[in-house]
Amino acid sequence: MDDTASLETLRADVRAWLAANAPHGWREAEQTHAEFAASQKAWFLKLVEGGFAIPHWPAEWPGGGRSLAEQKVIYEELARADTPRLLLSFVSTYHAASTFFECATPEQKAHYLPRILQGEIWCQGFSEPNAGSDLAALKTRAVREVRDGREVYVVSGQKIWSTMAQYADQCLLLVRTSSEGAKQAGITFLLMDMKSKGVDVRPINQIQGDQEYCEMFLDEVEVPVENRVGEEGKGWAVAQATLSSERGLTLMELAYRMRGAGGRIAELIRKAGKENDPGTLAEFGAIMTRVESACAIADRFIENRLKGEERVGDASIVKLTYSRVLQDFALLGLRLGGLDEQVRAPIVFGDLNTGNWMADYMNSYAWTIAGGSDEVQRNIIAERMLEMGREPKNWVL
Ligand SMILES: Cc1cc2nc3c(=O)[nH]c(=O)nc-3n(C[C@H](O)[C@H](O)[C@H](O)COP(=O)(O)OP(=O)(O)OC[C@H]3O[C@@H](n4cnc5c(N)ncnc54)[C@H](O)[C@@H]3O)c2cc1C
Repeated sequence: MDDTASLETLRADVRAWLAANAPHGWREAEQTHAEFAASQKAWFLKLVEGGFAIPHWPAEWPGGGRSLAEQKVIYEELARADTPRLLLSFVSTYHAASTFFECATPEQKAHYLPRILQGEIWCQGFSEPNAGSDLAALKTRAVREVRDGREVYVVSGQKIWSTMAQYADQCLLLVRTSSEGAKQAGITFLLMDMKSKGVDVRPINQIQGDQEYCEMFLDEVEVPVENRVGEEGKGWAVAQATLSSERGLTLMELAYRMRGAGGRIAELIRKAGKENDPGTLAEFGAIMTRVESACAIADRFIENRLKGEERVGDASIVKLTYSRVLQDFALLGLRLGGLDEQVRAPIVFGDLNTGNWMADYMNSYAWTIAGGSDEVQRNIIAERMLEMGREPKNWVL
């Protein structure tokens, strides 16, 4: 029952648990990427223990089976307490888990899901240098062979932008098993052990000093046939289950975290002595109104989705709203912080609303691309939702 009283009891429980368990001073303590990864792993395991790591999983899992209203309370409280966002495990608990729940065999679920709760890290190996927005153009080849008496896919190719692949134990991998017919028809979905021979992971340096994502070179990597999810050549449909997790709860959580970070802008305004400056207050009010809209749009999207009422383009509206507000939010912080903020050391690992405004602003651009670029979202809204007709092919600016 989601009555107000039981939600408030849950809120009090989460708050009390966070008061006793939330890490303090974690940003300052994360001076290297290795420290960042260690602190992320510890916080994830702590959340599992507390029962707040996987509220979106089914009820048979410890801490699972929470209603949407309960999940919102948990996310709100995690944001309010300024806890670390689970960058290292979000592919595991969202992308991998939703793939398993929707498409995997009972054996695969029994094998992989408990390991996620023990801290096993997953990455997503979908994008390639020439296959991002047009993901179905991917070229990484997988050929089925018998090697050492075992049936395997032998995989060769290159992946890119795989978030946290340098720490991953396993990979959700899209490969091409056939070049016949439509591009989507020859794609197969595999689960690849990152310790397999032939996997070479190279972190990419980012503008703000982080190495959030990696290139992955695959040279004759052997993936057992039983590690395939769904049928051979039917991986495109499985990939939709993986990607759909990104379009819902992840964005709701991110929008809530941006709302939680509003206090940091208020702090900057006070520091600058502009509490009574009408222009500054108008700007602050305008941005926080947009932040609230982003939260409300994400909320409504998930509610509609759970009721089976999601329309084509709804997910694009959520994504586009969030990415545009995030950028303006970080820019306002950067401007209000003045020169001090602009010359601060920019390295901040894997977060978006840190209060290190230069890093946050640079990092905000990543969200105009990740999970489908803003231009692609606009195309989906215009062409498929508003039925405005397709843009002409091969037109030149
Ligand atoms: C922070 C971050 C994390 C990521 N994590 C992962 C991950 O873990 N695993 C993974 O597989 N991938 C990941 N990605 C990759 C991401 O999915 C791709 O970057 C994204 O799909 C865009 O593809 P692309 O980079 O190849 O750009 P392209 O598709 O080459 O696009 C280049 C430019 O052209 C525009 N464009 C492309 N097509 C059209 C069109 N039809 N109409 C108008 N404009 C168009 C785009 O908007 C963009 O501005 C991540 C990306 C980011 C930024």
